[in-house]
Amino acid sequence: MKIAIAGSGALGCGFGYLLQKKGGQDVTLLDNWDAHIQAVNENGLKITVNGVEDIEEMKMCKPHELNEIMDAIFVFTKSMGLKAMMKSIDHIIGEDTKVICLLNGLGHLQTLQQFVDKKNIIMGTTVWTAGIDAPGVTHFNGQGPVELQNSDPEEKEGALEIVDILTKSGLNGVYSDNVNFTTWRKACVNGTMNALCALLDSNIEEVFASSTIDSMLSGIITEFAAVAKLQDGIELDVDETITYLKGLADSVGAHYPSMHQDLANKRPTEIDFLNGAVVEISKQFNLEASYCKAITDLIHAKEDTLGIK
Ligand code: NAD
Repeated sequence: MKIAIAGSGALGCGFGYLLQKKGGQDVTLLDNWDAHIQAVNENGLKITVNGVEDIEEMKMCKPHELNEIMDAIFVFTKSMGLKAMMKSIDHIIGEDTKVICLLNGLGHLQTLQQFVDKKNIIMGTTVWTAGIDAPGVTHFNGQGPVELQNSDPEEKEGALEIVDILTKSGLNGVYSDNVNFTTWRKACVNGTMNALCALLDSNIEEVFASSTIDSMLSGIITEFAAVAKLQDGIELDVDETITYLKGLADSVGAHYPSMHQDLANKRPTEIDFLNGAVVEISKQFNLEASYCKAITDLIHAKEDTLGIK
C-alpha cells in the first residue's frame, strides 16, 4: 500500500517507521520542517523503538513534492496544523484514499470532512508515545492498542484493512465500535492532566497529590461530560472518569505530559482543541464552561509570557 504520513514529527515518524520496516508498506514521510527533512534524507531516520535503536532509510519530502495519489494517509500534525496540512495534500487524495486521524483533541472530523469524503475518513486514538530528540532523531514507545473506527457506518471494511496493516506492523491495531467515547475520554485525560501539569509546572504525581485535585477534576470533567452528551450523545460518567484518571496517574506519576513539554520547548499547545473546544461547544448549547474557560485563558497567557506565537 502507498502510505503518506502527513506531519512526520514524533508520532508520525514512529508510525511511518514501523509501517515500512515491519509492515513492508511503501511509506513517504511528509513534513515542512527543513532541518528534519534534510537530516532524514542525509542520514536516514534514527529512531529508538521501545529501547531498540535503528537507522532506516525513508522517503521524506515536503507535501507539494509528492505527486502521486496515495492509498492511505495518516495525519500526524498538531491539532492547529491539521487544516493547513489538509490543504497542502489535496493533490494526493484520490477517490478511494483512506485518511486516518489519531490526533489528540476534539473537532478533527469536521476539519477532515472539508477535504475528504466521510466514507474515507477513519478516526482513532493511540496510547503510544513519542518524542523528537533532534532533527531526524526520534523515539517511540508503546505496545497498547491503536483503536480505529470508520466514520461512515457503511465503510467498516476499509477500517478493518487499516487495523490489519497496523497489527502486521507491530502497532496493535484494534477495531472499535465506539471510538468517539475513547476520543472524549482521552480529551478528558489531556484536558486535566496535561493542562494542570502545564499550568502548575509539575509532574502528574505532584498535581494529583495537591489538596484541590478532587474539585479541579470534578469541575473540568463535569464540563467535558455535559458537551460530550449534548454534541455526540457520549455518556461520560464523571465519578468513573475521575477514578480512571487517578488510576492512570498512579501508573505514570513521574511523567510530564506533552503540554508541559510544549511550553518548555516554547511551542504552542493544543489547548484550543481540548478545554478551549469544550468552551466553544458549550456556547452552542447556551452553557458556560467556566473551569475550562479559565484553564484555556491561563494556558494562552502562559504562551504569551513565554513569547510563543
Ligand atoms: P510533533 O510536535 O512531534 O510534530 C507535529 C509537527 O510539528 C510535525 O510536522 C513536526 O515536524 C513539527 N515539529 C516538531 N518539532 C518541531 C520543531 N522544533 N521545529 C519545527 N517543526 C517542528 O507532534 P506529535 O507529538 O507527533 O503529535 C502529533 C499528534 O498526536 C498531536 O495531536 C498529539 O497530541 C498526538 N499524540 C502525541 C503523542 C506523543 O506521545 N507524542 C501521543 C498520543 C497522541
